[in-house]
Amino acid sequence: MPSNPVEPSDIFKCQQCGDCCMGFGGTFVTEKEIKTIAGYLNTDPGNFVENYCQISGGKPVLSQGKDTYCIFWDELCTIHTVKPRMCRTWPFIQSVLVDTDNWQIMAGICPGIHTDVSDSDVIECVSKELAKNL
Ligand code: SF4
Ligand code: SF4
Repeated sequence: MPSNPVEPSDIFKCQQCGDCCMGFGGTFVTEKEIKTIAGYLNTDPGNFVENYCQISGGKPVLSQGKDTYCIFWDELCTIHTVKPRMCRTWPFIQSVLVDTDNWQIMAGICPGIHTDVSDSDVIECVSKELAKNL
């Protein structure tokens, strides 16, 4: 009998620890995301970039507070409904498809990632989530 297909929620459940929102990883924001988040914050894109972003590699990334957490982290993501794609897709990211070892490496910093999963299940779930977030 065929087994049920594995679902992304079977291999990852966010523990809301905030570890991935800490450190200068560079959460890039696209122009569209800047407009969306600025609207959510009732400001305009120029003000948003000036007050909430730093420039890295010539592109805006979300700023960090003194505690090195993302400026929008406050025990939870304060812009959850409009957070950038980079944050929405984690940990279902392209680099896992390039090398599934990255799934295990990422699990070292993210307690929500399950490691008792086959490479083929990881690939299936990452592919599904990436397709959803195109
Ligand atoms: S590190 Fe993982 S478990 Fe913790 S908040 Fe980020 S995604 Fe969730
Ligand atoms: S936008 Fe939200 S999810 Fe993304 S790094 Fe900042 S606090 Fe974390």
